[in-house]
Parts: sequence; C-alpha cells; structure tokens
Amino acid sequence: MTLQTWQSLCNKKYRLSLRLFLLLNAISALFSIALPLSHLRILTIPVCIIFAASLVLPVLHHYFPSRKINITLIALIFGCLWAWHVITKVRLINDNADAFLLIALLSILFIGTIAFSNNILAFLFHSLPVFVSCLWLSSGENEFRMIYSFALPVLGISIQHAIQKRNDHFAQALMNRLMQERKTLNDLSMLDPLTGLYNRRGLQHKLDNMLAVDDSPRYVLLLDIDHFKAYNDHYGHMMGDQALIRVSAALRNAVRSRDIVARFGGEEFMILLNNAEQEDARRTAERIRQQVYDLKIPHMFNESVATNVTVSIGIAPLLGNDIEASLSRADKALYEAKHMGRNNILVSEELQPA
Ligand code: GH3
Ligand code: MG
Ligand code: MG
Repeated sequence: MTLQTWQSLCNKKYRLSLRLFLLLNAISALFSIALPLSHLRILTIPVCIIFAASLVLPVLHHYFPSRKINITLIALIFGCLWAWHVITKVRLINDNADAFLLIALLSILFIGTIAFSNNILAFLFHSLPVFVSCLWLSSGENEFRMIYSFALPVLGISIQHAIQKRNDHFAQALMNRLMQERKTLNDLSMLDPLTGLYNRRGLQHKLDNMLAVDDSPRYVLLLDIDHFKAYNDHYGHMMGDQALIRVSAALRNAVRSRDIVARFGGEEFMILLNNAEQEDARRTAERIRQQVYDLKIPHMFNESVATNVTVSIGIAPLLGNDIEASLSRADKALYEAKHMGRNNILVSEELQPA
C-alpha cells in the first residue's frame, strides 16, 4: 500500500461519514415535518434548510468531488439549525415541552453518535447548540438526564477517537517501515553486490532517468580487464574478486559524480560520461587506464610476461540517445584496442572502416 492509497482511504472514510450524516439529517428533517414529536405540525425554516441542504450537498459533492467539504463546519451549521428549530418549536408547545426537548436532544445525539463515531470535534459542534438550547429551555426537571445523555456519547466517542488514533498511528508506522524496506530492496537490486557499482538493472534505471532530462553530449566507455582469466587461474578466484573490487573503486574515483559507472558483466564495466566531448572522453579514459595501472596489482599474463592488472577501453559517442548503437560501437573499439596489445584506449571514430 502506498501513501496515496492510504490518503484515498482516509478521504473515502471522510466522504462516507459526511454522506451518512446528511442522510440521517434528511430523514430526521422529513420525520419532523411528516410526523412531528408533538401534535403541533409546523414547518420551520431551519428544518426546510436542513432537508434541502442534506439533499443538495451530496449532489454538489458528486459533481465537484475535488472540492473538500469541511465536515466540522457543516456539523456546526446543522447543529445551529437544529437548535433554531427546537427554540422555535418549543415556544409554540404548551404542554409537555420537556418531553419534546429530551427527545429532540436524543435524536441529535443519535445522529452525531452514528455519523461521527470517532470524530469528537464534529460530534461536539453538531450537538452542543441543541444541548445548550435544551438545557436553557428545560424546566429543570430533566437537566440531569440531558447532561447524562450528552456526557455518555462524548465519553464513548473520545475513547473511540483515542483508539482509532492509536490504530492509525500504528498502521502508518507499519506502512512507512514497509515502504522504507521496499526502497532499500529496490536500491539493493540495482547494485552489484561485489563492487557496489550499478548492475545492468541499475544502469538501465539511471539511463532512463538521465536521458529523459536533457540531451547534452555524452560518451560511453566500455572497459575490460586484460587477461583476467589468466589472473584467476594464477592467483585464484578470491584474489580475482579483490582485484575487481579495487579496479571498481579506481573507476568510481576517476570520474565525476554525475557520470554513471556500472559493472556490465564479469570483468567488464561501462561508464557514461555526461556533458563530455570527444577530447574529454579520451582524457578521462587515459586517466582511468593509468590509474588502474598505478594500482600496481601484480599480474602474470603468462609464464614469461609479468606486469600489473590493466584495462583496455573502447570509447564511443552517444548519438540520439541510442545506447545500444553506442555500446556496439564502443565494443568494436574495445576489441580493436585489445588487438593493439591491451592496456590501450581507442575511440570508435578512429576505427578504420572494415
Ligand atoms: P581479455 O584480455 O581478452 O579480456 O581476456 P580475459 O581473460 O580477461 O577474457 P575472458 O572473457 O576470456 O575472461 C574473463 C574472465 O573474468 C573469466 C572469469 O573467470 C573472470 N571473471 C568474470 N567474473 C568474475 C568475478 O566475479 N570474479 C572473478 N574472480 N573472476 C571473474
Ligand atoms: Mg571480457
Ligand atoms: Mg578481459
């Protein structure tokens, strides 16, 4: 699950809570018009507004889903409208006004508890205006019942709110950890475990990002360690690995941070030089060749020839972001450089046409 899906889940919960609130209000408003609590049948302005708004708001929200409705504000407005309705109506009731107030308060609390089961603020904004009005208008006989009826859901919703917050916190921390681990795994899958350089997958990923940004001049260097099979045969595979690690570090140190260095295959490497002309590429390749030689890793090419570990390098420009074509040209240059006696560099443009 990503952060977006978490966010959209929260938004969905928010929308559902609002819709439920409006539905319950529409039903209550309809009920108070059609079957009033007392025998007094009057149509108050606030009830008409509540009924109309409960129907219109979901329609508006459907057509303008990006406009977020502030649920707390709506709760407060509806709470004030219900309080207005109660005040208007109770003045017209002559007998048993207290029963009307108690039932009106319970209805409001019922709507709030159902719709805002873990949104204490919206619940308070919705019920407080009616609660205060009822307390103020009641004869005093039912005050304790009213306070109790109000306090009980406040306590319940507060506890529910705290539990929900803790659960959300836990779920979010878990999600963050999972995302962090996914990122770490993803990063690791792009690196060669032996040398720490990009592997082919990492190289492709870097290239995709880099080539999409700009089209500055670039050069590709293809490097291959000379007679490395003989090195392994003579010194063993473990020493071969150590040599690969040291050569890799030398390559990384020889170029700028904006250049890409990747392990292309066993003892082959690729370097993409960003923002480089042919002369820069040649100079960099020469520097790399020299620095690898200067590592002074002893190497017996064969029984009679002893030297250091060296690399040969083929160089080719990157034309039109066609990396495959550029690699193929660099490979040909590398092949020729090897033929010229190894520990050599060659630019593809200098190759004699076949
Ligand atoms: P050339 O100068 O023509 O490139 O000769 P070469 O011996 O380097 O070329 P070849 O392709 O015949 O041999 C490459 C060797 O690189 C063979 C393999 O044992 C060695 N190699 C490839 N990957 C690794 C590795 O991860 N560790 C070690 N130690 N050796 C490796
Ligand atoms: Mg090779
Ligand atoms: Mg080789």
